[in-house]
Amino acid sequence: MATTKEIVSFRDVAKIYRGRPAVSDVNITIKEGEFVCFIGTSGSGKTTTMRMINRMLEPTKGTIIFKGKNIRKYDPVRLRRTIGYVIQNNGLMPHMTIKDNITLVPKLLKWSQEKMDKKAHELIKLAELPDSYLDMFPAELSGGQQQRIGVVRALAADQDIILMDEPFGALDPITRDNLQDLVKNLQETLGKTIVFVTHDMDEALKLATHIVIMDSGKIIQDDTPDNILQHPANDFVKDLLGEERLLQAQQNTLSVGDIMSKNPAHITLGRSLSEAIWEMSRHHVDSLLVTDDSKKLKGYIDLETINDHYSKDLSVSDIYANNLIKVRKDSFLRDTSERILKQGYKYVPVVDKDNTLIGIVTRASLVNVVYDAIWGKEELENPEDANLPVSISKGSENA
Ligand code: ADP
Ligand code: MG
Repeated sequence: MATTKEIVSFRDVAKIYRGRPAVSDVNITIKEGEFVCFIGTSGSGKTTTMRMINRMLEPTKGTIIFKGKNIRKYDPVRLRRTIGYVIQNNGLMPHMTIKDNITLVPKLLKWSQEKMDKKAHELIKLAELPDSYLDMFPAELSGGQQQRIGVVRALAADQDIILMDEPFGALDPITRDNLQDLVKNLQETLGKTIVFVTHDMDEALKLATHIVIMDSGKIIQDDTPDNILQHPANDFVKDLLGEERLLQAQQNTLSVGDIMSKNPAHITLGRSLSEAIWEMSRHHVDSLLVTDDSKKLKGYIDLETINDHYSKDLSVSDIYANNLIKVRKDSFLRDTSERILKQGYKYVPVVDKDNTLIGIVTRASLVNVVYDAIWGKEELENPEDANLPVSISKGSENA
């Protein structure tokens, strides 16, 4: 869970090599519990930025604050032990068993043997590997298994923040996917803060709660994945995301109000049944939404019910049905469309926060949107669906 407490912040940081900035104007705030991904092309300054956090590199300019204190005020060796670090080739010592590798830092911290043994068993379990692996050497494990050890070792240590520099870059896609799940699960359950470098947008979108996009040593955009997808800062970011993801993201934030038809056929409670029939024929529909005089949605009435109960003395209020589902104008389609499609409603009325009837979402318009999200923006070539939006065909039993 992300809290609002800052753990690291960069203030106007630059790293300059022989007059050439590797990174400059870096201002980032990392909060506790965040999963931050630095993403950018090779040479954009991701590693340099990350390594300044634990003083593997010293900034040329600016300040970095770690837990409220300038990192210069910490002893560099102790700082590095306080901050976990995972690299691509897992950093396991080849001549040490998995168990010794896992308990390397606890040993430095002078834990008791008993405590270290307990930790080793705990970790191998977290890595989802058998206990017998503890006595093996790294070379006896596959690359993916070695990296599982590297990941749990870093995550299970008593460090609140872990730096990971393209840790899964050398792994095949399936192993990589499994390790991403592992690191994400551990991060969430253990409540760690992770700073993760990648050049893979899929990886960043899968893992990150906070993405920092870098290009040529500068931060181009720094925001949540959602906000970046919704508002890419420039063409570089758009290219990095790709057209397909942008389209998908756009569909994901469509609200009911964006696709509803306005002015659905409706009638007020006090009107007579013959007036209702007349309204239906005028709109070529067999069902009307029912509102009170101030347009608050009350229910619906359909032709079949009128046929069954017709009397010229009855009004809409006598026989309308009030058991209908409705959606709010500002609710996201992604949250409502599946429900509507699955339950087989032909249409769903749309109301504002005061329950005023303002529109209608038809099954056909939803199908269009879902179709666009899956297949892209092409015309839907189903003539039957083409003009459904204003003609309300009979609602389902619950509608
Ligand atoms: P990334 O991790 O995004 O691939 P780096 O942070 O490794 O990028 O490098 C950023 C830039 O800084 C690159 O242009 C790189 O050549 C330069 N750079 C990195 N380390 C050094 C160094 N020790 N000396 C000179 N230039 C360096
Ligand atoms: Mg790098």
